Amino acid sequence: MRPTGKLHLGHLVGALSNWVPLQETYDCLYFVADWHALTSEYADTSGMTAHALDNIADWLAAGVDPERSTIFVQSLVPEHAELFLLFSMVVPIPWLERVPSYKEQQEQLVEKDLSTLGFLGYPLLQTADVTMYDARFVPVGEDQVAHLELAREVVRRFNNFYGETFVEPAPLLTKVSRLPGLDNRKMSKSYGNTINLTDDAGTVAKKVRQMYTDPRRIRADIPGTVEGNPVFMYHDAFNTDTAEVEDLKARYRAGAVGDVEVKTKLARAMNAALEPMRERRHAVMAKPDRIREIAIDGSRKARVIARATMERVRDAVKLRY
Ligand code: AMP
Repeated sequence: MRPTGKLHLGHLVGALSNWVPLQETYDCLYFVADWHALTSEYADTSGMTAHALDNIADWLAAGVDPERSTIFVQSLVPEHAELFLLFSMVVPIPWLERVPSYKEQQEQLVEKDLSTLGFLGYPLLQTADVTMYDARFVPVGEDQVAHLELAREVVRRFNNFYGETFVEPAPLLTKVSRLPGLDNRKMSKSYGNTINLTDDAGTVAKKVRQMYTDPRRIRADIPGTVEGNPVFMYHDAFNTDTAEVEDLKARYRAGAVGDVEVKTKLARAMNAALEPMRERRHAVMAKPDRIREIAIDGSRKARVIARATMERVRDAVKLRY
C-alpha cells in the first residue's frame, strides 16, 4: 500500500481483509510502497513517513501479525531499485504505455505532472517488488490486476533471456475487489469519496446517509436495482446478518423499503464490523515506537531475502566480477 494518506474501506475490503487470513496458509510479506507513493506525490513528501506508520497501525489493528508476516518499507530495501533497473533494460516502453492506469491516472490527476519516468515505470517497480520474494500470489484490489498481467509478461521475457529466474505472480482477489466510494466511482482519496478506517461511528453513519443509490428510485415504492448498487455491495461486504440483507434486497426490488432503512441498517453493520479494529488501533497507537520497530525489523528480514535474490539475478544476467 502506498503511504499517501489514511487507509479507507477500499483498502480494507479490496486487500487488507485478505491479508489477515492468508497468514494462516502462506509466508506473507506486506510492505509500505513509499517509492510508489513518490511517483505521484513527489512534490510534497512531508507527510510520507507519518502516513507509513499510520498505515502500518491499521494493518496491525486489522490483524496482520508481525510475528507471522514480514512487514517492511520498500525504500529500506534498496535492492528493489536494482531489480527495477535490470527489468528496465529488457522491457519495451510501449508495454508500459499501454497499461490502462497509466493514461487514466494522467487524465484524472491533471493537477499533477505525471509525465515522469518514475510514473511510467510504476508497474515495473511493482514487478520487482513482487518477484524479489518469488511471490506466487499478490493479494490486491481489482485495479492492480493489469499490473500483475504486465509482471507476468516481464517475468517471461526476463526468463527467456537469462534462464528460469523468477516465478509468474497471480493476483488474489477478495469477494468485493473494487469497492465504490460514496459517489459510486472507485473509492479513492483523490476523488474525496472515502470512508476512512479511522472515521468514528457518527462519521460513518453520516457518510452512509450521503451514499449514492439507484438514481431512478425517487420514491420508496419504486422498484430498485440491487446489482451494482453500492449500498448493497457494502451490505454484502460488511453485513454478517445475511437474512437481513436478503430481506432488504427483496423489498428493495419490490419497492417496499425506504433508503433510510437500508442505510441505517448498513451503518449499524459497518460500525459493528469496524469497532474491534478501532479499539485495537487505539491500543497500537499508544506505542508508536513499537510500530517503527516493527517496520525496521521487518525491513531487515526482507532485505536478507532481497540480497539472496539479487545474487541469483546477477548470476543469471552474468554480472559476476
Ligand atoms: P494503493 O492505495 O494504490 O496503494 O492501494 C493499496 C491496495 O488497496 C491495492 O491492492 C489496491 O488494489 C487496493 N484498493 C485501493 N482502493 C481500492 C478500492 N476502492 N477497492 C478495492 N481495492 C482497493
